[in-house]
Amino acid sequence: MKRFFSPSLRQRLAPHARQRSRVYCGLLVAGSLLVAGLGEVAPQPFRKAATATPDAQIARAGEPWQIASFPVEGFQAYTSAFGYRGSSFHYGLDIASPSGSYIRNWWEGRVVEVSDDSACGTSVIIESGDWTHVYCHMQGYVTYEGGTRVFVDSGGGLRLAEGQGVATGDRIGRVGMTGRTTGPHLHWGMRYQGNWVDPALVLQAMADGQRRAALPQ
Ligand SMILES: [Zn+2]
Repeated sequence: MKRFFSPSLRQRLAPHARQRSRVYCGLLVAGSLLVAGLGEVAPQPFRKAATATPDAQIARAGEPWQIASFPVEGFQAYTSAFGYRGSSFHYGLDIASPSGSYIRNWWEGRVVEVSDDSACGTSVIIESGDWTHVYCHMQGYVTYEGGTRVFVDSGGGLRLAEGQGVATGDRIGRVGMTGRTTGPHLHWGMRYQGNWVDPALVLQAMADGQRRAALPQ
């Protein structure tokens, strides 16, 4: 798994890449291939972590991944992987960054939920087609405005309402310590068609796409 954890990903992935609509369908196709490549994506209730991913299948996922955004600024380390952690299962990838680092939206989509009353802390859930991406332990809080739930982080100049659209690479929060956490980090969770996916596999596919795009045509 070590190869998934490359700090230089942050530099290699362009957060503001565009051409999204053209490749959107491509992402969904790529997602299908990626998930197919996982072999065993545990349906709920969750059984075990997806482990081996044939490189050839990931490679077939193709170009669209390169425009996705790495989810946080100020990367320091991957501190907890997706999978079993003792007797419990960790449904995401923990990425340590200094407190206050901006979190970036992985892929264009819509805010489907904001909350601040669970172990996830102040959190945002975004839906992009068949994908759902979850961001936990952020700074700020959730309030109501005219019956709509709104996430507010005054210090970061951020405000996100449920139902709102967000672009790839948009700043959607800041790393904090809300919820159950012992240090500032982003807990990043991903689901494809309702099944949890290891975000490290997605990052790997993004890096592969970036590498291919950099090759001379
Ligand atoms: Zn976590």
